Amino acid sequence: MSTKFDVVVIGGGPGGYVAAIRAAQLGLKTACIEKWLDKSNTPRLGGTCLNVGCIPSKALLDSSHKYHDAKESYGVHGISVGDVSIDVDAMVDRKDKIVDQLTSGITGLFKANGVTSFEGVGKVLSSKKVEFTAHDGSVSVIDTENVILATGSVPVNIPPAPRTGDIIVDNEGALDFRKIPKRLGVIGAGVIGLELGSVWARLGSEVVVLEAQDTFLSVCDTDVAKEAAKVFKKQHLDIRLGARVTGSEIKGEEVEVTYLDAKGEEQKQTFDKLIVAVGRKPFTDGCLAADSGVNLDERGFVFVDEQCKTSVPGVYAIGDIVRGPMLAHKASEEGVMVADIIAGHKAQMNYDCIPSVIYTHPEIAWVGKTEHELKADGVKYKVGKFPFAASGRAMAANDTTGFVKMIACEATDRILGCHIIGAGAADLIAQAVIAMEFGSTAEDIALTVFAHPTVSEAVHEAALAVDNHAIHIANRKKR
Ligand code: FAD
Ligand code: AMP
Repeated sequence: MSTKFDVVVIGGGPGGYVAAIRAAQLGLKTACIEKWLDKSNTPRLGGTCLNVGCIPSKALLDSSHKYHDAKESYGVHGISVGDVSIDVDAMVDRKDKIVDQLTSGITGLFKANGVTSFEGVGKVLSSKKVEFTAHDGSVSVIDTENVILATGSVPVNIPPAPRTGDIIVDNEGALDFRKIPKRLGVIGAGVIGLELGSVWARLGSEVVVLEAQDTFLSVCDTDVAKEAAKVFKKQHLDIRLGARVTGSEIKGEEVEVTYLDAKGEEQKQTFDKLIVAVGRKPFTDGCLAADSGVNLDERGFVFVDEQCKTSVPGVYAIGDIVRGPMLAHKASEEGVMVADIIAGHKAQMNYDCIPSVIYTHPEIAWVGKTEHELKADGVKYKVGKFPFAASGRAMAANDTTGFVKMIACEATDRILGCHIIGAGAADLIAQAVIAMEFGSTAEDIALTVFAHPTVSEAVHEAALAVDNHAIHIANRKKR
């Protein structure tokens, strides 16, 4: 290939495609290599996020929530809808349509921004060359000044529950069930396990979640995790902690799972489908030539510094293949940062201000430090909490579960963390993210005017509560 590029991006997920668009916007001659083929062998941009991750899971979460709401909650508003039913094929087809629309949207954005698309597999060679193997098997070498490696992650497989294609599945298979499984097993009570378990529980599956750890949602604030455990129990998600899966056996159309329970006793449980959601690992297979000079760390992530520079000058790595949370928005912002750096701009990322969300109902969202992290760091802090049960708007919407919890530094009042469980938490958390990004104090939020009636007022009240000034709480702390 004779053309020389300024930037070649390998991987067209939310890390890679965003990096490519930004680089092209900055006037750099940019190409993106992506190997994804859909079920009909059509090349697809968008990576895990658009094809089998964030977007399709949210499409199913929204459909199943509407179904469940219509069935269980409309009555309270005086609405009767008769017998509510769900057409699973239509639900899954709608999800596929959204994925089609969004992935072809990226193709359009590449064209509009002048990004050259290569459909096939990329490999980093030495001396800033990239090997490109097209889907027809032809191999060529691309010259480039810079490489951005954004090859993402793949699901972890565990030997006790190897995927079978239709009965034991990973996240991809779980997004494509065409029938509601009567008995659904989920291994792993992490973000993906809880979201996918919720989808099918709302549609009527009996869901059992087997989690090896003794603590539920240990990544979350303890109060939030406690509230979440209560809520999920009410939603008939049977979450068994301290349950380590040790084996599985396909028996006809079902699977028998063996696990050790919290007492160390062996248990067996039979399911119609089993989702393995035990985490994801960085994907670097075949992406790096032996002499590429790009180093991996001890866990298989590409080793990078704060600016996503690898051990080879001019070669960067972003997204799920590098340290930090495996989140689409983190991947995208790293992509923007790296494109800016390549274009000669000063750029950096604030890794302390990345929000995390679990899209169950209620949603769980957080940013910054938890109480237990601050305690471990010896930082003195103040806490303000406000329940949605005291929010007029939440009451009007008949959705009053959960609370906003704001944590501020005792000495400076600067916001150190915010933890929300409640309807719309994913959007509400942005207010705390912006506040933290601007270095705000809890008082700054307390002095801000919030529209009434909105659920956002709970963020305002939580900020007021940090200094015991919440208006709509009867049981304020005694001074
Ligand atoms: P990926 O999206 O994995 O993209 C990497 C791309 O590189 C892939 O398209 C792959 O085909 C391609 N590739 C790999 N090797 C090569 C090669 N050698 N040559 C060419 N191409 C190659 N995150 C959120 O922030 N919010 C969510 O709600 C959310 N929900 C999720 C739900 C599920 C079920 C799953 C599985 C994940 C979810 N995530 C979510 C995580 C999110 O999908 C990832 O963090 C994100 O996709 C990472 O982006 P990336 O660009 O680093 O990698
Ligand atoms: P996450 O990394 O957030 O997707 O969460 C994956 C979860 O799967 C973790 O909480 C692990 O403890 C859990 N897990 C991993 N292996 C097993 C296993 N064999 N049995 C049950 N749970 C497991």
